[in-house]
Amino acid sequence: MFLNLTEALTNEDRVVSMQAETQITEISVGGETYPGHASSPVSFVFTNTGKGKARIDAEVSFVFTASCDRCLKPVEQEISLAFSRQVWAPDAAADPAVYEEQLFMDGFVLDVEDLLISEIVTSWPMKILCKPDCKGICPTCGRDLNTGKCDCDSFVPDPRMAAIKDIFEAEREV
Ligand SMILES: [Zn+2]
Ligand SMILES: [Zn+2]
Repeated sequence: MFLNLTEALTNEDRVVSMQAETQITEISVGGETYPGHASSPVSFVFTNTGKGKARIDAEVSFVFTASCDRCLKPVEQEISLAFSRQVWAPDAAADPAVYEEQLFMDGFVLDVEDLLISEIVTSWPMKILCKPDCKGICPTCGRDLNTGKCDCDSFVPDPRMAAIKDIFEAEREV
């Protein structure tokens, strides 16, 4: 969705509030694509902050589905976003490079999806878990350890310890 910000960018002290629907159905983060959508319309407030300048305040929740980092079960997660961004009218940016960085703006027009996607990617969780104490899956048999224990030897030998064990065994044979 595109919103024309001319009113807030060109009228001193003007405050414009509006709701905007988004068409996001998936998001790509770190080379992976996740299905997701905004759980409600985005609440925007555009506040004029000077000649050719405005502040965007936005609030929205984004819901997406990803795999648990430990057990790989699909998990629905929600990111609550509340953020502010400064924007400039095309002729108002003191430094043209500043304007170039507003990739979500085309002239006076805001690309809602571009802005939201950049915010969602910034707020992406470091870890995705189905529950804080997810036990994961057994690396040997693949059993989901949240459903019970398996019979595998859970001892993972440390290669350095194995080397020491070899030395002891060699000495014993002498
Ligand atoms: Zn899990
Ligand atoms: Zn196992």
